[in-house]
Amino acid sequence: MTARKTSEELREIYRRSLDNMRDWLRDSSLRPDERVGVVDAWQEDLRAFFRDHGHCFSCERPFDHCVCSEPLEGSVH
Ligand SMILES: [Zn+2]
Repeated sequence: MTARKTSEELREIYRRSLDNMRDWLRDSSLRPDERVGVVDAWQEDLRAFFRDHGHCFSCERPFDHCVCSEPLEGSVH
């Protein structure tokens, strides 16, 4: 079993991933509606990643310390 990442590590991964995606979107020739699909998919991935490490994607805290009225656990509504 792999060790769970800390809130700090998750935030760092999130920032890096966001930067990468923005760079990639800037250089890509996707249509606006395609961009939305890419961003949605990226968010879904990150949300699942946070959930796998026991964190809420919305407030970036462990679920025990989540301050949201409803924690984002990666479910698709
Ligand atoms: Zn939360």
